[in-house]
Formats: sequence, structure tokens, C-alpha cells
Amino acid sequence: MKHTPDAKSVWSWRDALLSTLILVLATGIGTVFSKLGFTEANIIMVYILGVLIISVVVKNRIYSLISSLVSVLVFNFFFTVPKFTFLAYHQGYPVTFLIMFIAAFLTSTLAGQLKNHAKQAAQAAYRTQILLDTNQLLQKAAEEEAVFTATANQLQKLLGREVALREKEQASVLRADCLYYPVSVNENRYGVAEISDKEHPPDAFEEGIVLSILGECALALENLRNVREKEEAKILAQNEQLRANLLRTISHDLRTPLTSISGHASNLLTNGEEFDEKTKNQMYEDIYDDSMWLITLVENLLSVTRIEDGRMQLHPAPELMDEVVSEALQHVDRKSTEHRVTVKNSEEFLLARIDAKLIVQVLINLVDNAVKYTPEGSTIEIETKRQGNQVVVCVRDDGPGISDEIKPHIFEMFYRGTNKPADSRRSLGLGLYLCKSIINAHGGTIEVSDHIPHGTCFTFFLPAEEVSLHE
Ligand code: ADP
Repeated sequence: MKHTPDAKSVWSWRDALLSTLILVLATGIGTVFSKLGFTEANIIMVYILGVLIISVVVKNRIYSLISSLVSVLVFNFFFTVPKFTFLAYHQGYPVTFLIMFIAAFLTSTLAGQLKNHAKQAAQAAYRTQILLDTNQLLQKAAEEEAVFTATANQLQKLLGREVALREKEQASVLRADCLYYPVSVNENRYGVAEISDKEHPPDAFEEGIVLSILGECALALENLRNVREKEEAKILAQNEQLRANLLRTISHDLRTPLTSISGHASNLLTNGEEFDEKTKNQMYEDIYDDSMWLITLVENLLSVTRIEDGRMQLHPAPELMDEVVSEALQHVDRKSTEHRVTVKNSEEFLLARIDAKLIVQVLINLVDNAVKYTPEGSTIEIETKRQGNQVVVCVRDDGPGISDEIKPHIFEMFYRGTNKPADSRRSLGLGLYLCKSIINAHGGTIEVSDHIPHGTCFTFFLPAEEVSLHE
């Protein structure tokens, strides 16, 4: 059987009952008036009032129209001679009935229209409110997903039916029973809105609001895209800048030690016999120092580029800190023999979950710096201890220290402070930057402070590993 929504929407128990009740009441009052000897005009007014009330309370106008007609019939039946028939002897009655009907009909129509206007105004206000809310919601949305969800929710609220928003890529699967509106701005299409129940398209006003909401949605998406593109362009430019800086600094800094190595080597090869033992030894030492420096530099550079590209993969494992420290000390600058290096381990089995190779590199950089930036005979102390669930490592020296103005910049890439090493070409400003990157990649922190009475203290914190008794 075909489903007829109209028949269903016209019939309403509530409206029928209310209309009947009010007409019965009007008839009751009419009877009292008639008993009291009031004129028919008064009774007619009671019916017109009844119809007016009906038109205010019922939802469907048809009930007030029927009530206008029924009120005339009931008046005729109960109050005109001969009573309790639908006959009317008096000549003037047909006119009375007609006027009564027209009056009742007009009042009911006017009241109905008034009610409709009020309803429409309330509905328009509600829809406009939805539009305003959408604007605020979309401004708050920080991701495309959030923009789509907020828009779909608002459209659903507006239309009272299912609405789905699809991105451009997913828009190919269209359903026959749905309406589709594009989400686009400035010829850029971002997706489609799928509105269910194609049989009942939104009215013109609703459609206007739907289009405004979708326009706002597209604008919000365009804004997000612009922000993202700008962000990407900025990163790209930064990377380019970084690469250019890196290349410039590196090529310049590599040249000096390489020239020295090749110069010494060439001299030793061609005029080897002419140098005394002491000079030769000095030359070998210089070659060794320069190549060691180059090796550390290349190690650092490789790590920096891996971190910058996001390619640095940590291989963390539980490691004994005193082993990590002694491993690092084997690789530090040979000149450290001119300094006193001491190690202080507060716990015998201090375990940290780290990538040992990288933490060794951090320690090498810190100790090398302490050697580089302090005069001969200075003391360098490495201390490891446990603090709560963290492993704390300090590398202290009693050198000149770092001034407070410079401290905030010390971990920046290519930053070289005012402290110059004895051999000033060996400064690149990469070491501490790399230390910070490595420690941060481990979820730890690194900081610099003063060592009293003078000197520098670098402290880094790493997550500790519980000592397992089974191992
Ligand atoms: P580089 O040593 O190649 O210059 P770093 O990033 O390792 O680069 O260090 C940055 C700067 O911090 C150094 O140029 C130096 O001025 C300062 N610095 C680092 N360690 C110390 C230290 N132990 N004592 C004094 N100054 C230091």
C-alpha cells in the first residue's frame, strides 16, 4: 500500500478532541445565555470566540475551518427555531449563518496566519542562530576533520535529518536517495555534503542557510590549507637555510685541518730525513689530532643530519652508566692528559635506558669542550647519580665558566661563545646543539650552570631503568 504522509499529517486526535471540546463548551455557554434570555447575537459571539480559540490551539488549520462550519450548524441546531433541527424558519437566518461563517472563518484564518508568522520568525531565528554558531565552531576547529564534523553536526541540527560530509577523495560513491551540495570556494572544491531524504528537499530559506554553512566550511578548510602550506614553505625555507649554513661552515672548517694534515704528510714524505725526532713527533701528533678532530666532527655531522631529517632511530637498551662513561673517556681528546679527569659514580649499578652510542657521543662532546675551554691542569669531574626515577650526569670543570648572557644560546646550532679554545679553529658550534638533540630524543633534558667558585657544569637527565635482580 502506498504510504500517504498527507492523510497522516491531517488527522490528529489532539486537534479533533480540542476542537470538539471547545465547541461543546461554547454550546454550553450558549445554552446558559439562551436560558438567561440573551440575544442570539451574544451566542454567535461565543461561537466566534470558540473558533478563534480553536485556531490558536490546533496545529492544523483545517480544524479551525471545519470548526467555523460546525459552529454554524450547531448554532442552527440548538438555538434557532425550530430547535434541535437543521431547519430555520426565520427569513433572515441564511444571512445570519453566512455572516457568522464568514466572521468565524476570517478570525480563524487571521489567527492561524499570525501563529504561522510567529512560528516562522522563531524558526528563522533558530536557523540564523545555527549559522552564527557554525561560524564560531569553525573558527575554533584546528583540523580538517574537526571542520567536517562541526559542519555535519550543524547541518543535521538545522535540517533534522542525516547529513554526512565527504572529502573530495571519498566523494565518488554517491547514493541515489540523497541530495548533494558541493563544499567549495573560489573554484576549489573540498568535498560534498550528503543530505538524506531526497524526496523532501529543504525549502528556499533552509537551502540558503545550508549553502552559507557549506560556504563557511569551505572557507575554514581553505584557511587551514593556507596555514599548512605556509608552515610547510617555512620549514622548507628553514631546511634550505640550514643546509646552506651547514655546507658553508663545514667546508670552511674542514679545509684548515685537511690542509695541515696533507702539508705535514707531504713534508714527512719528501723531507722526512731532514727533521729531527722531536719535530717529526710533533708533526705526527698534529696529524693525529687533526684527523681525530675530523672524525668527531663527521660523527657529529652525521648525527645532526639524521636528527634534522627525523631519521635518527634510537636503539635504547638498559646500560650501566659507569660503563658508558668509561667508554666515552677512551675517545676523548688526547689532550685530556693535560687535564685531571675524575669520575664519581654514586651507585654501583646505575642503569639507564639509552642508546649507548649516542650518549657516549654526548659525553665525548662535553668532556672535549671542558678540555678545549679550560687551561692546562684544570680538573674535570664526571658524576653520575640517581634522582628519583632519573639518572643524572654532570660534567664539571673549573675553567673560566660561561657568562649569563651567553648561557641561553649555548645549545643553538652554530653558536660559538666568547670563550675561545687555545686552538681557535676547532670551534664549530655543533657539539652542544647535538648533545641537546640527543638528550631530548631520549626524553631527557640538559642544562648548563655555574660551577662554584668558577667553571661550568653541564647536567643531563635521562630516564632510569630499574635494576632487575634476575639478570
Ligand atoms: P664548539 O665547541 O664547536 O664551539 P659547542 O656547541 O660545543 O661548539 O659549544 C658552544 C660554545 O659554548 C663554545 O664555543 C664555547 O664558547 C662554549 N662552551 C662550551 N663548553 C664550555 C666549557 N666547558 N667552558 C666554557 N665554555 C664552553
